[in-house]
Formats: sequence, structure tokens, C-alpha cells
Amino acid sequence: MKTVTTVKDMQMIVDKLHRTNKSIGFVPTMGALHEGHLTLVRDSKKRNDVTIVSVFVNPKQFGPKEDLSKYPRPIENDKKLLAKEGVDYLFNPDENEIYPHGFQTTVSIDKVAEIFEGKSRPGHFDGMATVVLKLFNIVSPDNVYFGQKDFQQCAVVKQMIKDFNLGINFFMVPTVRDFDGLALSSRNIFLSEKERIEATNIYQSLLLGKNLIVGGNHDSEDIKNKIRSYISNHKMVRLDYVEVVNPVDLSVTKTVHRPVVILVAAFVGKTRLIDNIMIK
Ligand code: AMP
Repeated sequence: MKTVTTVKDMQMIVDKLHRTNKSIGFVPTMGALHEGHLTLVRDSKKRNDVTIVSVFVNPKQFGPKEDLSKYPRPIENDKKLLAKEGVDYLFNPDENEIYPHGFQTTVSIDKVAEIFEGKSRPGHFDGMATVVLKLFNIVSPDNVYFGQKDFQQCAVVKQMIKDFNLGINFFMVPTVRDFDGLALSSRNIFLSEKERIEATNIYQSLLLGKNLIVGGNHDSEDIKNKIRSYISNHKMVRLDYVEVVNPVDLSVTKTVHRPVVILVAAFVGKTRLIDNIMIK
């Protein structure tokens, strides 16, 4: 695996790959890699001649009160994991390389980015979309891989690809979970032992919602109330939001029509986690 740190070098490599008609699969990440990220990498490896992974902790997608300075950056371990998976190129630029002096452009997506995560984390999706568009322009991928865990992020990136005619194929990869159902996340390391045990209630609440829908309950508000009530019985978990949405446009309806996705965001101690479940 070759590590590339500058935009110029990455573009030179990509130009050469395109000239030789190699398909490029791309997996953008913020590092602190786990099996979730590696599953995206494996999907890309299966379907592309060359796989490029980026590791860049993007300051623009963190709010002023969020965990940017604490965000884990175990880059040497990340390199080992990616090399073991047979990744061809790691793109690991520093902040000045991505946002050089004088950088002034922000990508802003309307409706789909303004709700749920967009509401709870103002500016998050603008920052995410800005870096993702920039990375897409640098890496010029044929196929990109994102995790279902960040379901709304998938919807926002898909919208951007469509609106800007980027001509990139988008693949959403199912969420990888720990033994007890907790979705793997780079932020799980912030959880104390007790919080880690309690965090599994986020997934349990999603299963509760799924079982209600599969059992014939079509009343969104009732399902959300039962999830709220389940979570409020677990004092270490504080719900930010629960939504029952259409997976295509994330619209909310009073009556559940499958396929449907339940989205949950919750704090466990000071750590904010998100998860979702699709009911087909
Ligand atoms: P991050 O490094 O958290 O920005 O995530 C990079 C990519 O990995 C995003 O597309 C995430 O949705 C995806 N990802 C993170 N956690 C998981 C997981 N548990 N299962 C599948 N994909 C994941």
C-alpha cells in the first residue's frame, strides 16, 4: 500500500489509473478504523481494480462544542489494517493540504441535510459535503462506499452526486455491529465500561421498533413513543431524536409504509451515538 499525502501526487496517480482504464473504488473515512470501515474496503476491493481509502479528520464537520480535538487518530494502526486488506492507496492529507490558506467554498444541501442530524448538528452536513466533494474531485472514483450506520449521510451524499451530475456509483454497506448489537463506531472508545454496556439499549430500542412494525403496528407516533419510553427507562442513555422515515427521501409519515427506516440519535454519558434499522 502506498501512502499519499498531497493532492498533486494523488491526482497524478489517479490520472495514470484512468489512462489505463482501471476502475477506482473509494472509501472516505476519518480513521480510527474498525470492522465497519474494513467492510466498506472489502466491498470496494471486490468490485474495483484499485481501492483508495482516505483518512482525514475533517474539522469542518465538527461543531464548536464537539469532539474534534479528542477524536482518535491512531494512524499507524490504521495503516497496518488497510495494508492487511490489500488497499492500494491511502490518501492521508493534512488540514493545510485540504483547506489551504484562502479556501472559501462550502457545499450546502437543502432539505435532506436540514433535518435530524442537520438540525442537531448545525453545519455538520455542509462540512461533510464540502470535504466529500473535494475528495471525490481529487480521487475521481467510479464507485464509492459509505456505511448504512450514517443513513442520513448516505442520503445527503447521494443527493449531491445527483444534483452535481458527478457520475459516481454510490454503494451503501450494511452496518457492522459488535457482539451485543452496538453499531461499531470510532466514538465507542469514549464510553466507560458501564456506558458501553448501556449503549446496547440504542440497538435494543431499534429492535423494539422493528418488532412493533413487523407485528402490524403502523402508527409512527405510537412506535416513536414506545422507543422513547424504552430509552427513558435506561437512565444512562439520553435520546436526542427518534424518527420513522421513508428510506428514499427521509420523509416522515404518520402511517408506516414499508420499507421504512427508524433513525435514533442518543447520548450515552457525553458520547453522542447514532444508529438505524431498515424494515423491508
Ligand atoms: P467515519 O470514519 O466515521 O467518518 O466513517 C467512514 C465511513 O465508514 C462512513 O461511510 C461510515 O458510515 C462508515 N461506517 C462507520 N461505522 C460503520 C459501521 N459500524 N458499519 C458500516 N459502516 C460504518
